[in-house]
Amino acid sequence: MSDSNHDGAGETAHRHEGTIAHDAVTRRDAAVRAAVAQGLVGPEAPLVALLDVTGIRASAAALRAAFDQVSADGSRVLHAFAVKATPLVPVLRLLHDAGIGAEVASPGELALARAAGIPSSNIVLDSPAKTTAELREALTLGIALNADNPQELARIDALVAALPAPSHPAAARPTDLPATDTTLTAGTTGATTGGTADAAAIAATRAPAPVGLRVNPQVGSGAIEALSTATTTSKFGVPLRDAGAREWVVRAFLDRPWLTRLHIHSGSQGVALDLIAEGLAATYDLAEEINAKAGRQQIDTIDIGGGLPVNFGSDEQIPTYAAYARLLAERVPGLFDGRYGLVTEFGRSLLAKHGTVLARVEYAKSAGGRPIAVTHAGVQVAARTVYAPESWPLRIAAYDTEGRPKAGEAVAQDIAGPACFAGDLLARDRELPLLAAGDHVAALDTGAYYFAHHYAYNSLARPAVYGFAADDAGGVRFAVVRPAQTVDEIVAESGGAHTTSLTKGL
Ligand SMILES: *Cc1c(COP(=O)(O)O)cnc(C)c1O
Repeated sequence: MSDSNHDGAGETAHRHEGTIAHDAVTRRDAAVRAAVAQGLVGPEAPLVALLDVTGIRASAAALRAAFDQVSADGSRVLHAFAVKATPLVPVLRLLHDAGIGAEVASPGELALARAAGIPSSNIVLDSPAKTTAELREALTLGIALNADNPQELARIDALVAALPAPSHPAAARPTDLPATDTTLTAGTTGATTGGTADAAAIAATRAPAPVGLRVNPQVGSGAIEALSTATTTSKFGVPLRDAGAREWVVRAFLDRPWLTRLHIHSGSQGVALDLIAEGLAATYDLAEEINAKAGRQQIDTIDIGGGLPVNFGSDEQIPTYAAYARLLAERVPGLFDGRYGLVTEFGRSLLAKHGTVLARVEYAKSAGGRPIAVTHAGVQVAARTVYAPESWPLRIAAYDTEGRPKAGEAVAQDIAGPACFAGDLLARDRELPLLAAGDHVAALDTGAYYFAHHYAYNSLARPAVYGFAADDAGGVRFAVVRPAQTVDEIVAESGGAHTTSLTKGL
C-alpha cells in the first residue's frame, strides 16, 4: 500500500470516527435528559449509571470488522470480552448477541458468562490462581483455559489423564516425538511438572478442552505499573527471558501434544501499542519455533489478550480497533495468514466509552474560595480515580436541573462525592459552568472498571444501571441492567442474619 493511499484511508477513517463521536454525545445528552424526565435520577435516586447500547453494538462490530479486514479468509477468530471490565449479565448477553464471547478469571465471572447463555466454546478461562476444582470444571465443560505456570500445568496433566477421553477421535501422535522426561525441571521458573501424572499417559491423552500456556515476553512496563503485565517481574505467565524458561516452555509443548495454545496479555491502559506488538511478535516467534520442532502445527491458536487503551480525554474513540489490527498485521503478518486461530480478550476498549455515571448535585458550597459541588458520585463508583487521580482522570459533564447541558462561564470547582473522607473527589479544580444544588454531573467513559466495580465505602449502595437506546418516536428507552442495591440488602450482606453471633454465639 502506498503512503498516499495509507494517508487517504487514515483520513477517511478519522472523519468517520469523528461522526461516531458526535453521535455518541448526542445519544448521551438525550439519555441524561430522559433519565431526569423519567425520574430514573432525582431526589430519591440521586445516582444512576447509564449504558449506551447502540455504542456497545458499534464497538463490537468495529472489533470484528477490524480483525476480519486483516485476516485471511476462513480464519478462526474468537473475540472474548474480558468479563472483569463490566461484569453484568445483560451486557455479556448483548455482546454475545453481537458475536463476542467471554474471557473469565474467577468462578464468579464464569457463572456470569454462563448465566448470560454464552456457550462453552466461546469462553476462555484465565487467572493466575485457579484451584484444581476450577480447572476440572473448565475441562469438563469444554472451556478453553490457559495455564499460568509450571505447577498449574502439572495439575492439568493429572486432570487430563484422569478425565474421560473426548468424544472426537484422538489425533495421531507424531512418531518422532522425543522421549518424555518425567523429571522436567522448570529451570529458574521454580517448579517441576513431573510426579503428578504418568508422562506417557500425559503425552498420549487428548485434553477435553483446548489448553494453552500463558507466557510473559518481559518486554517492559507501560505508564501505569499496576496494569503492566509484561514486566521482568510480573506475576503473570511463564517469564520467557528468565534463564532456561524458554527451553522449558518448548519442552513442555513437545511433551504434551494436547497443549495447543499460547497466551499473552501485555497489559492494559497505559501500555504503548508498540510494546504490545513487540510482546506479540515474541510470542509468535515462540509458536513458530515450537511448531517447527514438533514438525506439525501443534500450536493452532494464539490468544493475544486485550489491553487496547481508551482515550479518556475526549469523545473520540482512539486508538481504533482497525488501527490496532493493522499495526499487528504489519508487525506479525504470519499471525493472520490463516495458520493460526486467534483469540482476543478486550475489555476496557469495548465498554468504557459507553458508560456514564449520572449524579445529582445535593449541595453547592465553597471553602477557601473554591466552589465545591457535593454530589452522590464518589469513591463507591470511581475508586481508581479517587485513589489515583493522576493516573485515572475522568471527564465531567455538567447538566442543569432538567438534565440539559449546563451553559455558563467556566469556573474552577471541585466535584466531590458523598463519602466521608477528604480525598473523595471525582475532579479537582475543574473548569465547568458553576454547579448549583439540583443540577447533575456526569462522569464520562465509565462503562468499564467503574460503576460495575462498586466499592462499599460508607455502605453506600450500588446504583441502578440502565441500558438505553432510541425509541421509534425519537425518544429514549431504558432497560434495567441491574437494580439499585437496597439498604435491606446492605444489612443482609453485612451479617444482618447473624446479629448476636459474636455476643451469644461464642
Ligand atoms: C484484564 C485482562 C484483559 C482485559 O484488559 P483490558 O485492558 O480491559 O482490555 C484481558 N486478558 C487478561 C488476561 C486480563 O487480565
